[in-house]
Amino acid sequence: MNISFTASRHPKKKPEDHELSFGTRFTDHMLLMDYSLEKGWHDLRIVPYDNFSLPPSTTVFHYGQAIFEGLKAYRRKDNQIQLFRAKDNFDRFNRSARRMCIPEIERDSVLDALKELIRIEEDWVPSSHGTSLYIRPTIIATDPFLGIRASHTYLFFTILSPVGAYYPEGFNPVKIWVTSEYVRAVPGGVGEAKTAGNYAASLYASEKAQKEGYTQVLWLDGKEHRYIEEVGSMNIFFVINNTIVTPELNGSILSGVTRNTVIQVARKNGLSVSEKRISIDEICEAHEKGELSEAFGSGTAAVISPVGTIRYKDHILTIKNGVAGPISTMLFDEITGIQYGEKEDSFQWTEII
Ligand SMILES: *Cc1c(COP(=O)(O)O)cnc(C)c1O
Repeated sequence: MNISFTASRHPKKKPEDHELSFGTRFTDHMLLMDYSLEKGWHDLRIVPYDNFSLPPSTTVFHYGQAIFEGLKAYRRKDNQIQLFRAKDNFDRFNRSARRMCIPEIERDSVLDALKELIRIEEDWVPSSHGTSLYIRPTIIATDPFLGIRASHTYLFFTILSPVGAYYPEGFNPVKIWVTSEYVRAVPGGVGEAKTAGNYAASLYASEKAQKEGYTQVLWLDGKEHRYIEEVGSMNIFFVINNTIVTPELNGSILSGVTRNTVIQVARKNGLSVSEKRISIDEICEAHEKGELSEAFGSGTAAVISPVGTIRYKDHILTIKNGVAGPISTMLFDEITGIQYGEKEDSFQWTEII
């Protein structure tokens, strides 16, 4: 596919690395592509970052037929820029597309266009420790039609956002609140898809948790409210008797690229990892017996997020006295080492662009 490029006539002032937070600044250009029944996906183009103009009847505004991805490009010490497991993100994007009746994109030509966009925006990729360029591919349904059916037209776009270090104040554990009242996903639902509505549906419980002084919600399964699923928008891991345990992919859990990275890096470092159904009662019991030594979330934004406190009904479990454990720390160092090109990438996950 040919990629056309229109340069911005009003390039913005780039932020200093210390001014960066998450998802507030965007680069000068974006990637776009259109879909119609007649032409399929077409007109892949790099254009100035700008507003969209869409009629109020646009189907995505009403019925939420939308999917997205989140991945990052990192600046290495030698100043080159690299992507981490981008193919895996775009494969998941296409799995989300299938579930939401959105036509799949051609992964490799879109990835080539993304690399071209990042080369154009090269100076936007921050370089201080822990910073990166966050990449947000999205597809929205664009038919100007209020009937409920899959749209016949779509807009694909990708925007880039330089982001600050996730842990400016150190690798500190968070407090999480187990909700036995609200659920994120149900068997047969769309929990496995990165689709917009899942996030809208999670906000109410998140706000409740925050009012209680907790950072994130730990979600249980949607049927029995017993089995652990995810934490906030991260996958969850526990260390019990020196084995790393994480819920198996059951259709309602989002299959995180970082989750898979954690599993592979842990095994390579000689740790045993078990993917299985695990109940909140088992976690409470392991804690009571002194067998629960660590808990952490995994996701692209934070990589590893250590958990210091878990509140479930009247139980308050404190893990490692609220400090990050050795396995969480090792995994964080190993994975970020590969992402920044400081450690050998024996899995061939990175791609210099
Ligand atoms: C994106 C996401 C994750 C983490 O996926 P990564 O590929 O590791 O970033 C986990 N759970 C939910 C619900 C998510 O949306």
